[in-house]
Amino acid sequence: MSDQLPRKPDETLPDSTSPYGPCPRCGRLSNFTIKVSAPVTYDGGSMAVGGMQHEPTHDEQLTVLQCQGCHQNIVVIEEQYVGGSRTRDGGTRSGPVEWRGVHWWPTPGMRPGNPDVPAAVSEAVARPPAAWLYKRLEQRR
Ligand SMILES: [Zn+2]
Repeated sequence: MSDQLPRKPDETLPDSTSPYGPCPRCGRLSNFTIKVSAPVTYDGGSMAVGGMQHEPTHDEQLTVLQCQGCHQNIVVIEEQYVGGSRTRDGGTRSGPVEWRGVHWWPTPGMRPGNPDVPAAVSEAVARPPAAWLYKRLEQRR
């Protein structure tokens, strides 16, 4: 049994765990540099961060990724997975921590005919972002 998500296909949009894929700006298959991440939704827990200080934990974050092709930044909203399970669904709380993108900015395909968004990129997000994951999980049964 794997305790990690299956490897992200190249044609799926990038996130901080798998910073590669089509760039929503330039449309090229590219690698991305993580610029910054910040919490979006706190999950009610907290974690000791050195000494006496406790930081609230979060299961949703935003990450700014820089495309190594066009050198522009994109924003990804990501959900936390621990040991291959989405944190928000409960389940295991041990194993590798991964972040999976669920929303991207700029949004490819949001404005059809926008010359800034290549058709190939619009196509890549026309299906639900996690469809590939569910398909893999079904195949395992
Ligand atoms: Zn780019």
